Amino acid sequence: MNRRKFLSFSALAGAGAVVAPQAAMAAVKSQPAEGNAKMPIATRVLGRTGMEIPILSMGVMRADNPAVVRAAYNAGITHFDTAHGYQNGKNEEMLGTFFKDKDRSTFTLATKGKADPRSANFEPEYESLLNTSLRRLQMDYVDIFYFHAADDVETLMNPRLLAMLKKFKDDGKARHIGFSTHAHKPAQIDAAIATGIFEVCLISYNFKLKILPELDAAIQRGVEAGMGFVAMKTMVGGAEDAEGSKRINGASCLRWVWQNPNITTAIPGFTSFDLLDNCLEAAHAPSLHPADAKYLAGLQNRETLYCQHCGNCVSQCVRHLPIPTMMRAYMYNFGYKHPSLSKETLMELAVTGNECAGCRACTVHCPSGFKVAEKIAAITPIVNVPSYYLT
Ligand code: SF4
Ligand code: SF4
Repeated sequence: MNRRKFLSFSALAGAGAVVAPQAAMAAVKSQPAEGNAKMPIATRVLGRTGMEIPILSMGVMRADNPAVVRAAYNAGITHFDTAHGYQNGKNEEMLGTFFKDKDRSTFTLATKGKADPRSANFEPEYESLLNTSLRRLQMDYVDIFYFHAADDVETLMNPRLLAMLKKFKDDGKARHIGFSTHAHKPAQIDAAIATGIFEVCLISYNFKLKILPELDAAIQRGVEAGMGFVAMKTMVGGAEDAEGSKRINGASCLRWVWQNPNITTAIPGFTSFDLLDNCLEAAHAPSLHPADAKYLAGLQNRETLYCQHCGNCVSQCVRHLPIPTMMRAYMYNFGYKHPSLSKETLMELAVTGNECAGCRACTVHCPSGFKVAEKIAAITPIVNVPSYYLT
């Protein structure tokens, strides 16, 4: 929801005369008390977890308005995805408040957490992280606990990490164990299969992926081993152009993702009633239309905000900067219009804002056509903007 709409909605709600956007009204009308609504959305089973969930879930990451969560829940969305770090814990707190009086059997919830399994205090710190998430969520367990942003095979296979994830499951704090990754390397899926621990993989999956054949083959191997797959980054950054000025048609992107029966569900990060409506429109008619295919084909070779996370740039850069994550931060700001998330992402990298200073000519040639140095120069100064100025 943009600021103008949000303010107007809030003011009306406070006056007791809510004139909600069309999507919200539709959701409210179909609302049976506090239960799930009943506009049918196809379901699929998430690998050997046995969880049967709608093909459309909610990535709650950027949402800060519980009314949008309520509208999604009442429209038949039953799976919600958050993380320990989103909005400094406020995202989990919002979900905890929303779900505290809901029947636990009417929804499933996933959260994520990251800690370094090579650190001396890894075990107590990781357990404390999960306990904090459960306290914020006001829940005894989460349905899926993901190791967050596992972008290298060594970490994913670390025995100390695997032992802790198994403990979380044995203790009943996580019904199922998964990992998320932005780097979408087929090698990571194969490593996860080899551990025998991971039941779910949350992976970047969209029509622009250049390694789609290799990735689809790895996903197939994962499915045969009993893993379930959840798709994120389905809308390639939310904007059709590198400046972020024209919005992506999310319904077309989702229908493309659902063509793959090995993808159980997608978790688009809608933050407004309009975007929820767009996702529901797709979920209620999930087959790819010829018009979708034509639209996506037109975007296929155009530079958008989506970085493939192929990693080719890192070794080309004279300073070996963590460019893929910096490009993700750029996307969060210009595509998602979420500057605080962009800043948080860069702060985790200890970015100062002067990363390319003194570098006379950029040596990076991105196969997706990203002018990497320009994007770094545009986004890194955000780390020096006080957080209270950022939304
Ligand atoms: S910036 Fe380009 S080269 Fe670097 S990871 Fe992204 S797509 Fe690959
Ligand atoms: S300009 Fe920046 S991204 Fe390019 S090579 Fe230099 S330090 Fe690396």
